[in-house]
Amino acid sequence: MEKVIIVRYSEIHLKGKNRGYFERVLILNMEKSLKGIKHEIKRQSGRYLVEGFELDETEEILSRLKRVFGIHSLSVALKVPTKMGAIFNAAKEVCFPVGSFKVNSHRADKSFELNSMQISAEIGGRILSTFKNLTVDVHDPSFIINVDVRENGTTLVFNEFFKGAGGMPVGTSGKGMLLISGGIDSPVAGHMIAKRGMQIDCIHFHSYPYTNLQAREKVVDLAKVLSKYTCGTRLNIISVTQIQEEIHKKCNGEYMVTILRRFMMRIAERLAQKYGAQCLITGESLGQVASQTIEGMTSSNSVIESLPVLRPLCGFDKDEIIERSRDMGAFEISIQPFEDCCTVFLPKHPVIKPSLESVEEEESKLDVENLVKGALASLEIINL
Ligand code: ATP
Ligand code: MG
Repeated sequence: MEKVIIVRYSEIHLKGKNRGYFERVLILNMEKSLKGIKHEIKRQSGRYLVEGFELDETEEILSRLKRVFGIHSLSVALKVPTKMGAIFNAAKEVCFPVGSFKVNSHRADKSFELNSMQISAEIGGRILSTFKNLTVDVHDPSFIINVDVRENGTTLVFNEFFKGAGGMPVGTSGKGMLLISGGIDSPVAGHMIAKRGMQIDCIHFHSYPYTNLQAREKVVDLAKVLSKYTCGTRLNIISVTQIQEEIHKKCNGEYMVTILRRFMMRIAERLAQKYGAQCLITGESLGQVASQTIEGMTSSNSVIESLPVLRPLCGFDKDEIIERSRDMGAFEISIQPFEDCCTVFLPKHPVIKPSLESVEEEESKLDVENLVKGALASLEIINL
């Protein structure tokens, strides 16, 4: 009797002729997420089995696989030969000492002598006569014994289905460049797009020494959390100190954030193009703060030359975003109180609905191209 983990995949079956490709990417992502843990992944029809691991690593494997997009559900199971005696022995192992139970059987191997109803009845009967403290309750049992008779002469016996991360395997929907700040929203935006199968590179802007090194560490930590879902990421870090100093010196202070945003977009697009990312992703949510009005978005969009900008949080309330942030494990990091570059030189009254004309007029006081080049020269890369 061997302990294994059953991995069932989602949505992939919808992809018809691409199925083979999706399966290969998924298995690659599972391998990446289990790096450093002894294991073997075997393919069965419509599922994978993780085998050959040390028993005390079961929980760690489960928690890592729960972050792999494309997985629908997982179970920790006992694998036995398809013989009633062996199946019964495994069923005994997954029994709780007291309570009520039912047996759910599924038979993929139609040549097995009993059908699924008969398997359930036979195993249930034997369990009842072995464990005097157990009763059968088919409507609301306290635990379930699942018996899955596979095609290859083996049967899987288990209690629970754990929910997987869903979505599509990262890498099957191209690559995007996430503008990641130290806030709550942008890591969530990256998580949502990664769930749809997109590989994510990150770009962060700082204004050291106005922002401190802890603020930077915080972003590295956030990118690390995200990287557990994206099977690694590349964090590009860029200084916008000089840009902010120039805006501060030459432009109307009310336009600081608006103009800075436009620089961020320009720089992000250039890096995206250089590294083959096909879109930009931001954590903007409509109307959340002054710079996130539709006018603000128009202003920052207008400097983008060719890539689409995905704003997956646009329709979400803050509480919905916070819930997702907690679920992905980023919230506690995001709420650490370090300053972001957007709060440096912050005017008392930022312009709320900037007209494109007025922004462009203010910005015309700057040598945009040289500032962009200067910022790009500060690029520092951290592979996570
Ligand atoms: P977040 O919680 O992601 O910081 P926010 O609600 O604080 O979002 P803003 O600070 O207005 O919103 O930023 C809007 C978006 O602009 C962010 O979600 C992020 O995508 C991008 N952004 C802002 N600051 C930075 C930064 N320093 N580096 C990279 N991207 C940034
Ligand atoms: Mg922010």
